[in-house]
Amino acid sequence: MTDPLLITFLAERDASCPRCHYSLRDLTTDRCPECGLELQLAVKSAKPLLGAWIAALLGTAIPGGFNITFCTFLLVSLLVDPRSFYWDQSMLATIIPGVVAALTLPALLIWRTAFLRCSIRRRWLIGSLSTGAQVAPLLWLFIFE
Ligand SMILES: [Zn+2]
Repeated sequence: MTDPLLITFLAERDASCPRCHYSLRDLTTDRCPECGLELQLAVKSAKPLLGAWIAALLGTAIPGGFNITFCTFLLVSLLVDPRSFYWDQSMLATIIPGVVAALTLPALLIWRTAFLRCSIRRRWLIGSLSTGAQVAPLLWLFIFE
C-alpha cells in the first residue's frame, strides 16, 4: 500500500532515487519508475553513526590480518613439511585471535545493519571487545614472552 505521506512529500520536492538517482518528483506509487526500488518515507539521523563500526572493523582487521596471515603460514608449513614443523604454545596467542578475526570480520560486514541498530554504548562495547580480542594476546606475547 502506497504511503500518502510519501506521495505528498514527493509532490513538493526534487528528491531522487537512492539507488539510480532518477527524479521522484510527482511520483504516484511507492516504487521508483526507473529501477523499481520500493521507497518509504523515514526519519534519519543527521550523523552517519558509523564511528564504532569503523573502529571495530579496523581494530579487528589490522591486528587480525597479522594473525590470519600467521595462521595461514603455519598451516601451509605444516602441510608442506610436517616433520620440520615447529610448535610452541605461544603460537596460540596468534592462532586463537586469528580464528576469532576470521569469524568476526565477515560477521561485522554481514550484520552491519543490526550492529548499527544497537545502542551507542553496546556498539562501542562490541568494537572494544573485538579489537581487544586481537590486540591483547599480541601485547601479552610481546611483553611477557
Ligand atoms: Zn531508482
